[in-house]
Amino acid sequence: DFCLSRGLGDVYKRQVQGRRTMSQVYGRVALIGLGLIASSMFWAIKRGGLVGEVTGYARSEETRATARRIGLCDRVCDTLEDAVKDADLVVLCVPVGAMEAVARQMAGSLKPGATVSDVGSVKRAVIEAVGPHIPEGVHFVPAHPLAGTEHSGPESGFAELFDNRWSLIVPSGDPDAGAVADLRALWEGMGANVDVMDPDHHDLVLAVTSHTPHLIAYTMVGVADDLRRVTDSEVIKYSAAGFRDFTRIAASDPTMWRDVFLTNKDATLEILGRFTEELFALQRAIRTGDGDLLHDYFTRTRGIRRGILDAGQDVDAPNFGRSTKAK
Ligand code: NAP
Repeated sequence: DFCLSRGLGDVYKRQVQGRRTMSQVYGRVALIGLGLIASSMFWAIKRGGLVGEVTGYARSEETRATARRIGLCDRVCDTLEDAVKDADLVVLCVPVGAMEAVARQMAGSLKPGATVSDVGSVKRAVIEAVGPHIPEGVHFVPAHPLAGTEHSGPESGFAELFDNRWSLIVPSGDPDAGAVADLRALWEGMGANVDVMDPDHHDLVLAVTSHTPHLIAYTMVGVADDLRRVTDSEVIKYSAAGFRDFTRIAASDPTMWRDVFLTNKDATLEILGRFTEELFALQRAIRTGDGDLLHDYFTRTRGIRRGILDAGQDVDAPNFGRSTKAK
């Protein structure tokens, strides 16, 4: 046992902690990868008293040391195998491209009857990468919380991240009803609203609502950066709302987003194709002075914003509720 807490007293405490009480959803949960999503899950689990004991593992010594310093996870383990051993639920919180290697390495240490889940932003690729490594008698229930920030790492998480946001459970094949119900209860306990969705539909919806918008933001910030070489600091100095919002999105983790585009290739290319056609139509309207087309288009898109507000997925405060003073 390479886990941090040692000694007989600790072993006893761990056994008690790992046992599920009436209000708890799982006795023991293992979080693999200790970044924004895993750390937010841990704080939300603690807030709700949802789990007996949470173990955690990250590949780098530095992240494990940070986790121990800030009290992230009840027990931080030095090996993946130790973290998943005896866990009722194992949640893979690593970049999508790293899921297969992690699943392969931990497969032999999983407890019979346990559930493996993940939080990856792409679902078909994760199902294909992880599914084959799940042993007989272990359930696999993929999921994806639709909540995040542009920050990453073990210190970026907070308990409220999932409050009133959607978390999608995206099972493949014929999932175990009890395993799905428990995972749903955990996400609801962490504050999320839960829906169940088919993997391919998930990947298409996310290509529209998240993946392609990120690519566009990355591109726009790249264009502005090229321009900056011409106009010196003006792009930063006069950075108005539209561009500032792009820079926030384009500050998202490069590894995570590289993996999203490499693994949700078809859906992203489909949406990008449609985006390019629309862009050309607007470009032509500008060139030909077709104000009616532009006005009609912008009226329609304003209606979409209204729909998001009505669904309670954003606030109606000006400037997205930000203070006008830069911090
Ligand atoms: P993060 O803050 O960057 O943390 C990633 C964690 O994964 C770190 O602990 C890192 O370990 C570990 N890791 C990275 N590469 C690895 C590898 N090759 N093998 C093993 N471990 C590796 O990431 P995150 O934002 O929490 O994202 C985690 C997952 O959630 C991703 O699959 C992402 O698609 C999904 N997701 C993200 C968001 C979001 O907005 N950020 C929203 C929903 C879902 P070290 O610290 O030791 O390097």
